Order: sequence, then structure tokens, then C-alpha cells
Amino acid sequence: MNEKTITCIICPSSCHITVRGSGNSIESIEGHTCKRGMKYASSEYLHPERNLTAIVKAKDYKTPVISVRTSRPVPKDKQIACMRIIRELEVGPPYEIGRVILKNILDTGADILLTNE
Ligand code: SF4
Repeated sequence: MNEKTITCIICPSSCHITVRGSGNSIESIEGHTCKRGMKYASSEYLHPERNLTAIVKAKDYKTPVISVRTSRPVPKDKQIACMRIIRELEVGPPYEIGRVILKNILDTGADILLTNE
């Protein structure tokens, strides 16, 4: 049996939720005070995901680098591999917020977007 304590980030109450389980099954969830927290803790225990932000090289831009982010969270266990790909990217104009510079990184369903212009 594994136990993981998760701080819920859905609202400012920041409840500490304890999830117990083994393998890919959950035995119990305690400490949440609403259904949203239970859903968040369950997802965080089974399939933790994070948004990524980074910088990439920029050609003909006002600075040598430009900031980017993922369009949606990516699985935590693919974060390092994603960052290795992102750091090799080099982008050119046009510089528009939200422009996709890489689609579906590592088959995560997340695109890499410019966050500056
Ligand atoms: S469990 Fe519910 S009340 Fe607690 S932090 Fe999460 S969303 Fe907010």
C-alpha cells in the first residue's frame, strides 16, 4: 500500500489530501472537502501532470531567447524528455503570442506556444 499526501491547488483553501492505494488502484482518499478536490487528488495520484514553461532561441528577435509554454499539462514522467526537445528549438518570425512552434510534443497532445510577441 502506498500513501501520498497532496496539496490541492484547485482553490485557495489548499486542503492536504491523503491518497492510499497500490499500483493503479486507489483504496481511499481523505482530507478533501469537496468533489473537485477528490477528483484532483485522484488524478494527481494516478496521472500527475504539469504545465511546462521554458525559453527557446529566437532569430531576428529583440532578445536572443523567447518564452514558450505548453498548451496543456504534460505527464510528469515526460517532463524531462519534453524539456530536452524544447531546449533544442530555435524559432524565427513572426512573433505572435499563441503561435504554435511545435505540435503534439512526444505524443502528449500538448503543443508548444510562444508567450511573447
Ligand atoms: S479540496 Fe476542495 S475546498 Fe479543498 S482546496 Fe481542493 S477544491 Fe478547495
